[in-house]
Amino acid sequence: MMGAGTEAGEPVRFAVDWMLGRLARWLRILGHDVAYGPHLRRRTLIGCARREGRVLIIRDTRLLRDPTLPPHVFVTQDRFRDQLREVAAAVPLGGVPFSRCVECNRPLEDVPRERAEAAVPPYVFATAPRFQHCAGCGRFYWPATHHAHMRRELAALGLAAEGAA
Ligand SMILES: [Zn+2]
Repeated sequence: MMGAGTEAGEPVRFAVDWMLGRLARWLRILGHDVAYGPHLRRRTLIGCARREGRVLIIRDTRLLRDPTLPPHVFVTQDRFRDQLREVAAAVPLGGVPFSRCVECNRPLEDVPRERAEAAVPPYVFATAPRFQHCAGCGRFYWPATHHAHMRRELAALGLAAEGAA
């Protein structure tokens, strides 16, 4: 990757190619601000990266022909784990894991338990120690078995400590 300047301590912000959905979700799980969606392809994707100072993650070789392409990582691997390693080799990864909505990228807010009661299954409400809410799409998040699975996955990739909150 070329020329991406990042402020110390600020997780790198990305603009991810529409072809790389799983990678985009995992970067959000890691706590990165990731612009991604069907509205962001080719020209609009590059425009977004340039306008918002995001590092592009692409896999479309046609985009490489643009001599003014902003700082970018060109992903060559097929599997998301390998793709994540490829990105990690080029850019420092790691924000606050589980701090963003994986669907719409908004920072999650901690909410009082009562807010979640009507929105989550009774068992979850009874057992989850805390809840987070996305003001964008209305989803509630809570630490659950899939979090444990994701933490193991990230630890295996060397991207997050298994015990980190
Ligand atoms: Zn959301």
